[in-house]
Amino acid sequence: MPVSFGHLTSLQLPSHATELVRLEHSLELPSLTNRLRQSPRLILGGGSNLVVRSTENEPLDVTVIRNDIRGIVRLPADGNAVGIRCAAGENWHRFVMWTLSQGLGGLENLSLIPGTVGAAPIQNIGAYGVELSERVSAVHAWDFEAATHRVFGLTECAFGYRSSRFKDPSRQGPWNRPRYLITAVDFALWPAHRAPRVVHYPGLEGLCANGPEAPMQIAHAVMSLRRKKLPDPDQIANVGSFFQNPQVPAPVAASLLETHPSMPVHPGADGVKLSAGWLIDSLGLKGSRHGQAGVYDHHALVLVNHGGASAEELLWLARDIQQRVLARYGVWLEPEPTIVPPVERPA
Ligand SMILES: Cc1cc2nc3c(=O)[nH]c(=O)nc-3n(C[C@H](O)[C@H](O)[C@H](O)COP(=O)(O)OP(=O)(O)OC[C@H]3O[C@@H](n4cnc5c(N)ncnc54)[C@H](O)[C@@H]3O)c2cc1C
Repeated sequence: MPVSFGHLTSLQLPSHATELVRLEHSLELPSLTNRLRQSPRLILGGGSNLVVRSTENEPLDVTVIRNDIRGIVRLPADGNAVGIRCAAGENWHRFVMWTLSQGLGGLENLSLIPGTVGAAPIQNIGAYGVELSERVSAVHAWDFEAATHRVFGLTECAFGYRSSRFKDPSRQGPWNRPRYLITAVDFALWPAHRAPRVVHYPGLEGLCANGPEAPMQIAHAVMSLRRKKLPDPDQIANVGSFFQNPQVPAPVAASLLETHPSMPVHPGADGVKLSAGWLIDSLGLKGSRHGQAGVYDHHALVLVNHGGASAEELLWLARDIQQRVLARYGVWLEPEPTIVPPVERPA
């Protein structure tokens, strides 16, 4: 009898799998590994970056492992940094609020991002000028292949824009046999009065407060901006940004700017970063729908489930957007959430 787990995901698509297990302690992992052996598996955190393609009649042939490992501890002092270890099943935003309540700064720009702490390294979450990789010192993971715990230092995590070794199929394995399950993350934070202020982002520029209250002020400003911009998944089902901002070589950006002078561009690690939201918005797609799936009225980068959408409807809409952007700008938009089973990019 398949189990339904769509209600554990923020997109609320019909989602079915062979089995669902709740992982409450990393000590359970050896016996779970033994029991599953080579069986297919899917790791689930808060389900806020996951698009599941399955039906009750065709459930995913996987054991869904819902990560619910809890706990936060302070690490011994290391230079100027304040070390905190947070278990992977803790809610990300509640953890950020906890650090602020402890008088620690560093995570405030990442307030109100849904999901778990353990999923944050997967795509190196980022917002308002800060990426997770700038605040992490180590990632603890269970290695299903070697049946052992491992600790990855910062460089070993291979963090990039919305990427890491834990998202890279050549290191993490196929979607239904992930090699590593993140069990905890170590953070290097600062006492609030010494935390760097990242306020160059539009909407935060006015905030230049010094002193221990500054990180909390930035967090509140970020939360207010996010509430205005993004739909609350409890009100309208969504996974946040559906596409990554594409990066193109500088000459390609220059030629696009000649024909589209108002197009926003930013320096990126691998070229020039374009705004996926702007590209979609410029095609007049905000508010468009396919069945019960749609482009959010107030933000073209967010695809929503208006209620009862199927994965087919949502992915048809996503593919339509990709093809229209490609036809107009010659740029292919890569999805940001994990799609299971994955959808192949057309040749
Ligand atoms: C309204 C909204 C706003 C958002 N804003 C942002 C934003 O500003 N910036 C940003 O970067 N993201 C944003 N997101 C995306 C999402 O919140 C993050 O990617 C988040 O880290 C996902 O966490 P999760 O626990 O929900 O992961 P899930 O959706 O459960 O899982 C995502 C992927 O990670 C894998 N995974 C999960 N936990 C583990 C683990 N412990 N070990 C190994 N693999 C694991 C899953 O198998 C899956 O492949 C937003 C989403 C929503 C709905």
